Amino acid sequence: MLRQRWPTYLQKITRQSSTLSLSHEQQALLESQKHLERGRLTIVSGLEGSGKSTCGAAILKTTELNTLALSPRWIDNSMQRYVEDAMPIGFLDKSHLQMMSLGEWCEDFRRQYASSANERLLSPAEARVFIYQHIDEIPRASFRGFKSKPMLQNAVSDTLRCFQELERQGIAPDEYALYIQTNLVDPESTKLTAKQFTDKLTAHTNLCEAYSAYRELLKKYHVNTRHGVVLDALELAREHPYYLHSALEHIQKIVIDDAEHLTPAMMRVILTCIMDTSPEHEFLAFENKFGANSIEWPNFVRQFKLEWNHNFHPNIEIYKVASQILSDNQKSSSNDVVEMFESATLHDEVAHVVKLITEEKNAEKRVLVLTADPSTVQLVINQLHQSDICAASLEHKELFKIPIVRSGLSLLMALASPSDSLHLFSLLQATQNSQIDTTVLAKIMEDTTSRHINLIDALATAATESEGIELFLTLFNRLQKESMMLSCAELVQLYFTETGELNKLMEPESEADAESSMALAAFLRHVIEAQNVVRSPYVPFVAPYLQQLQSTGRHYLPRDLSALKSNDVLVASLKNSIPEQIEVDSVFFMNMHDNAFPGRARRGIGSGILPTELFLSKEKPNTRLEHLTKSRNQLFHHIQRATSRIVFSKVHDKPWHLLPWAHDAKSIENVKQETQQEPISTMPTSGTFELHHLSFTQIDEFVRCPHRYYLSRVLKLEQKPTASMVYGRSLHEGIAVWSQYSKESTAREKALEAFELSWTSGCFRSKLEEKALFSMGQDALNSFISHEENAQKDIITVEESFEFEVPEADISFQGVWDRIERMPNGDIYIVEFKSNLANVARDNQKLAEESLQLKLYMLAYYRLHGIRPTGAILRSLEDQHGLNAPGIIQATDDTDTEALAAVVNTSKAIRARSFDPKPSYLGCAFCSFADVCNNNST
Ligand code: SF4
Repeated sequence: MLRQRWPTYLQKITRQSSTLSLSHEQQALLESQKHLERGRLTIVSGLEGSGKSTCGAAILKTTELNTLALSPRWIDNSMQRYVEDAMPIGFLDKSHLQMMSLGEWCEDFRRQYASSANERLLSPAEARVFIYQHIDEIPRASFRGFKSKPMLQNAVSDTLRCFQELERQGIAPDEYALYIQTNLVDPESTKLTAKQFTDKLTAHTNLCEAYSAYRELLKKYHVNTRHGVVLDALELAREHPYYLHSALEHIQKIVIDDAEHLTPAMMRVILTCIMDTSPEHEFLAFENKFGANSIEWPNFVRQFKLEWNHNFHPNIEIYKVASQILSDNQKSSSNDVVEMFESATLHDEVAHVVKLITEEKNAEKRVLVLTADPSTVQLVINQLHQSDICAASLEHKELFKIPIVRSGLSLLMALASPSDSLHLFSLLQATQNSQIDTTVLAKIMEDTTSRHINLIDALATAATESEGIELFLTLFNRLQKESMMLSCAELVQLYFTETGELNKLMEPESEADAESSMALAAFLRHVIEAQNVVRSPYVPFVAPYLQQLQSTGRHYLPRDLSALKSNDVLVASLKNSIPEQIEVDSVFFMNMHDNAFPGRARRGIGSGILPTELFLSKEKPNTRLEHLTKSRNQLFHHIQRATSRIVFSKVHDKPWHLLPWAHDAKSIENVKQETQQEPISTMPTSGTFELHHLSFTQIDEFVRCPHRYYLSRVLKLEQKPTASMVYGRSLHEGIAVWSQYSKESTAREKALEAFELSWTSGCFRSKLEEKALFSMGQDALNSFISHEENAQKDIITVEESFEFEVPEADISFQGVWDRIERMPNGDIYIVEFKSNLANVARDNQKLAEESLQLKLYMLAYYRLHGIRPTGAILRSLEDQHGLNAPGIIQATDDTDTEALAAVVNTSKAIRARSFDPKPSYLGCAFCSFADVCNNNST
């Protein structure tokens, strides 16, 4: 194995460690950096793999100038990794070189000049709990007028997202207040009606006051957030420039790597350094030319720009494949390193990928599998394990779902309220070494319910007959007695020591034990932090805080990268963040179809009241085109992780247009019916079905026929696109693009282009039908645009994704509002467009009244904004826009109740696996699974 990997690693190590192997361009830059040129900013931009970080590391290695090397990332900093790999131990301790993340520098700067030494950093979930703890001190209107707990939860989440964005942008409360005082004074200049102006002013004033109170509270309690640290450093540097001078006094050169990842607040810090100290320092920035950050470097410093186009990837063929993906004009790839295959079903796809991985493993190669659909990760891992191949998941694991953590939290909750049977029951259930028979436990629980007694009393009665229960009760009673003498962390440790679990975890022998060990350590850290936050180590105070922490956000188990690196097959979803240092021989991309990848663009935060005029760069509208560019960059990045082989796989007939050339790749292999559609053996058929989110489409599918839902969402069988789906999707895409660019002269052109781009062939009965529908769609879009151009509507948002928690069903609900409009009188309406394929008269009013989707989307707005929308409008799209009058409904308590009931009932039925078929002549006739369903009634 070592021999096989050696050439690649040798090249890499040689590249990193020797300045002799640098290219001509890199050598030139290295030479130029040996001499200090004060006041100059050099920007080196290039694609990933063009040697920027390597050259940066070489500069740091050879420089004799006092240098500060900064990176926007707190972890996974590529230049630091290169320096550490290539330099002798202790090199970084040399006094002339400081290397850290920009966040760490900001922390240091504040620690030195603003005495922020004892400040604790809050995670987003902890920040949310912090808001709850101080909710009465934050004057946010939506925190006061809520009618239910979920409404408050949504108000807190939404407000926190606003605060986070203001911090990320580097906007301090004072700057925000000044903006309101100077920019929101004259309704005339804003082109708003008097009511709209008053609404905007009120919304901004309230958000600004709440933000100001929140920042003050963070200071008062010596806590901060990651973005907040940078914001505070920025404020300090601006208020006291001499502090900044003093902090940078001994520095001659500042090198910034991965500059494309600088947040706007970080960019402001760098710009302040440049403005205040540019005559004394030299700046060098490396940035990816297709990076995530759209902020331009300002012109007020002397700039010297270099663009590097070469690439150091050890396999030039792989680099060619990767760079073709970035090109607009993607040519056909005739390349030996890339393969593409199709399977009949997902099960075939998984089986075939596992077969190919087995071959790779036999050749002692390292493999990375990236799935477009996150649910495929576990399927692949299970199948690999069944084939005796060690594979690890790179997916984030939720800390509070790991049994040892559930057990620890239940213990503290049960000690805090022993009469609450629920916590005691979860403790008994989650404790691994419990000697209590689960059937005995179930019987006791049944008794407690039928006889209305507490579980603790029922356990006391049962203890005479069960040694396991007696032991458990003795331990629990002992802990209860000591609960006001021992801290929570001590109680948890004592419990796991007595149950024997701690011993096992101290020296883990299996991967599962190692994971539990890490999880317990992470949980104990949370417990100790909670003790500090509530200023008491005792259970009655700490347990409620921990429970709130668990219920208000996600906490992930820290990843053990060294353990992951030793695994030869790693599996992750494309949506996950994958550590930079993972390099492999082969990369497999699975489930590559349009819906999964690139999928739909995620939208920004939904409140719509942020002072975007203050943002360093106006965030670009999140168009489909921009999303596609980001998706291509993502593919480019992951392809370059491989050194010998790239495999794309998809399910037959599922369209994937991102790489048109992939269909011409040399080794297309059609793998059909390989496993005869046998369900994957690891797919559970009993027990509760795991369901985390719902959408209107899912509910609609389930209500029409639960078996159809089962075939599509549980078995994940192929769902063929229909003519009406293609027609509707293309029209929606065209409308979304037009709405984004409606103020521009090329809006219509762009919309028609988007319509054409999203059109897919292959599902029409004939070419003639496709041509007729394509032309009708273009007419409908043109007619819609002509109508809208003269309509003068106040469109608040277009194609905005939303997600909100429905605690009543313990689920999150996701969807996309086609549009939200504000009427001249200030009324807010949710607008849904429905294509009218038949192009005939239609009763939109009746359709609107019957539409569950409109009711769900109104409820979503209510829960996310805390204000009920006035109503919803259904507009149909015909080739003569306006042929049918829109349907309009009002939002009421009844519409909310109906929507909520649909979510609750559907999630309950899906979890209970109620997937019985509901055949009907019309339903089956239009069902995509009619070919494979035995219950088809047609
Ligand atoms: S064919 Fe009919 S019964 Fe079968 S899944 Fe489709 S709608 Fe349900």
